[in-house]
Amino acid sequence: AEVYLNGSWIKPQQATISVFDRGFMLGDGIYEVTPYYSGKAFKLKEHLDRLQYCLEEVQINFDAYPIAEIMAEAIERAGLAESDAAVYVQITRGVAPRTHYYPEKISPTVLLYAYPVKLEGFENKEWKVLSSKDKRWHRCDIKSTALLANVMANEEAIARGYDENILVRKGYFTEGSHSTIFFVKHGTVFTHPEGPHILSGVTRQVVLDLCRDLKIKVREDKVHLDELVEVDEIFLTGTTTQIVKVASVHSLEKEIFTPRKDTVTRQLQEEFLKLTRGK
Ligand code: PLP
Repeated sequence: AEVYLNGSWIKPQQATISVFDRGFMLGDGIYEVTPYYSGKAFKLKEHLDRLQYCLEEVQINFDAYPIAEIMAEAIERAGLAESDAAVYVQITRGVAPRTHYYPEKISPTVLLYAYPVKLEGFENKEWKVLSSKDKRWHRCDIKSTALLANVMANEEAIARGYDENILVRKGYFTEGSHSTIFFVKHGTVFTHPEGPHILSGVTRQVVLDLCRDLKIKVREDKVHLDELVEVDEIFLTGTTTQIVKVASVHSLEKEIFTPRKDTVTRQLQEEFLKLTRGK
């Protein structure tokens, strides 16, 4: 399928950017991934709101909302109007001689494409995860294309046969390398508070809303490594991850967590299915 690059639809092989694009040279860009269930966007406004927030935080002058129509066109053009899919959007500051400060009179580079994603069967997955040091910067709320610390962490997990990592900063769990972490402890759901050390996950908010509807107690509080002994369930969430049960957590030396239950995880998965599939 064609990709959208700066106003044109182009075959991927022909879609090229300048070697001086600041996204390429400096990781100076923002991205967003929006899911489409049977061709229909889920939480589109929330994804566009986050994109707009990130663009403003890094002062890239671009209005995110009008790209909703181009996203829909990408789905159509890729023949995914009836399928499960995602749209990737990336906006970099643009092309200019390399400087560390923001250049003047620069126009953003806009790349967007749709691709098929399997959004079925998440409830049957059980992930083994590796606990890794969170080596990222202090603005994880910005969905930056500069993902080297996430990439290094995830490589460590995948190379050892794990499905994802959960990151630890100063003894406290923050989030996954590409997902949000939830803990269930004595019937209460815990997740890291919003702020500079996690991405404000769209699925995170969906799960918090579901908990409130289901009268499940919630605390947006950090969980310490030492508290794992009291944790009954862990699950990870994300746009393409959806809600996945964690079957075990490992450090490089040993297994440090196995679930005692999965009641809350299952309940939330069931409600999430209803929400996304209208069942
Ligand atoms: N945290 C990180 C670091 C991510 O890359 C993602 C992306 O999927 C998430 C959390 C989950 O966010 P969302 O539910 O908006 O996809």
